[in-house]
Amino acid sequence: MTLPAVHGGPQVLADQLAVVLAQMPDPSGGPVAGQLEHDLSVAFGVPHAVAVASGTAALHAALSACGIGLGDEVLVPALSVVMTVAPLAALGATPVFVDSDPATLDVDYDDAARKVTPRTRAILPVHLWGRMGDPAALTAFASAHDLIVIEDAAQAAGTARDGKRAGTIGTIGCFSMKDGKILWSGEGGFLLTARRDLAEHAAAFRSHWQPAPPGQDPLSRLATNSRLAAPLAVIAQANVHRLQNLVALRRAQTRHLLHTLQGVPGLVALDPAADEQWNGFAPLLHIDLPEARGFAEHLARQGVRNSTGSFRLVPCDTRPMFSQHGRPCRGAAQILDHTLAVLLTERDTEAILDRYAAVITREATTWAA
Ligand SMILES: *Cc1c(COP(=O)(O)O)cnc(C)c1O
Repeated sequence: MTLPAVHGGPQVLADQLAVVLAQMPDPSGGPVAGQLEHDLSVAFGVPHAVAVASGTAALHAALSACGIGLGDEVLVPALSVVMTVAPLAALGATPVFVDSDPATLDVDYDDAARKVTPRTRAILPVHLWGRMGDPAALTAFASAHDLIVIEDAAQAAGTARDGKRAGTIGTIGCFSMKDGKILWSGEGGFLLTARRDLAEHAAAFRSHWQPAPPGQDPLSRLATNSRLAAPLAVIAQANVHRLQNLVALRRAQTRHLLHTLQGVPGLVALDPAADEQWNGFAPLLHIDLPEARGFAEHLARQGVRNSTGSFRLVPCDTRPMFSQHGRPCRGAAQILDHTLAVLLTERDTEAILDRYAAVITREATTWAA
């Protein structure tokens, strides 16, 4: 099998960067970020896009736009990264961690229902590894409990299910463009929403409330600077134009690695739902070996970078700064302890993937022995 070629690579980018560099410095920031936002809204079929400096900043602006603040509780999967939760805490809101179902990786909605209180304002599902869960279940749960939905779709660009794109189900969808995500720009992020008022709030929030939303005075509210720099916006825009190719490539890379690993003892591919058009963010394998987490860490030391092994990904409810009272999220812990999620970029050629496969096969075989 050969991986699909992705056109519009380095030379096109170099030409576009040269144009922007020739216009710099430009204290106004120039037109590129606005053009990127236009192209994002077209690519995702959503009326408004707001470009920011990171995925974390997108979540921060989104939560602020939705009016989340002091004393509000937000349901968030323990199966996530610190970056999802930090913006909540920064706004004075309280994260309430909910468990996930090891069979589907989706939110455990029974657990979520038990954790709803009169202070619960929102649910923040995280489409970890590009897997988006069941949009109908999410929408039904949110409307039953009158909750705002803000999606952390940082890893889910290109995933869809039941005709719905990840990041477009909720009131706002948040994305990261940090290198390693499928749609990359070095650093960067954006949010998508159908609501003009929320987009205007987010655009003001990322720039110290200047320009302010219509009818408000500039600088009349405390906010922050999380503008996306023009050179990064140019990279992002070039990659939005080849988004479908980038997603197709990631899917092919993941399919190739999983295919090569078929039959390796102790490793079983974690398939997406039957109706899910998964973006293939990371080849996912259930590790059915002794000391599964140790195995993932061992692979990282052998050069196969992966979520749990390289980043010590643990359930957020077990992190000291968020520690929760009550029952730990055991489903999330089980998923993280037993999942090998291999980290890929578009520079991973077939030869590199085959090397990963060889290392994983060799180590799994000797680990089990
Ligand atoms: C990358 C990521 C973030 C944070 O994005 P940054 O651009 O690094 O701030 C948040 N949530 C998830 C699930 C991510 O993968």
